[in-house]
Amino acid sequence: MTREERFLVDSMLGSLVTWLRILGYDTEYWKGDDREMLEVARKEGRIILTNDREVVRFAEKNGMPVLGLTSPDVPEALAKIALTFGISLEFDGRRTRCPLCNAPLQSSGSRWYCGECGKEYWIGSHWIDISRKLSEAKRRLMELRDCRA
Ligand SMILES: [Zn+2]
Repeated sequence: MTREERFLVDSMLGSLVTWLRILGYDTEYWKGDDREMLEVARKEGRIILTNDREVVRFAEKNGMPVLGLTSPDVPEALAKIALTFGISLEFDGRRTRCPLCNAPLQSSGSRWYCGECGKEYWIGSHWIDISRKLSEAKRRLMELRDCRA
């Protein structure tokens, strides 16, 4: 039921954490030492997303999956992650995770419940914003693919 790729997101890219979790990807938010971050990523088999060039260089040198992201723009970043690692930009209610604590959510009809932090979610007005951002991400992905072809 869970998505395969796991991520570790650098503190500067915090807004991405929420989106990857909504899309169902196990995502840790890192706010600490770079060296430790690399260690955790290696141990837990996580792809590093960072805006730190030094981290990108180090990870590449050591054969660790990494993606350097310079823009804070969410659709742009999601499109680049999808292009590089093949993640899905489709929301799947059976695989979504808690944006706050990363635990897989249990669904009942159009509601979701987090067994970890107790938060409840449902399709409300914020949903329009979510689907708009994901559509934008998919559009950018198509543009990126065209550039490559
Ligand atoms: Zn939670």
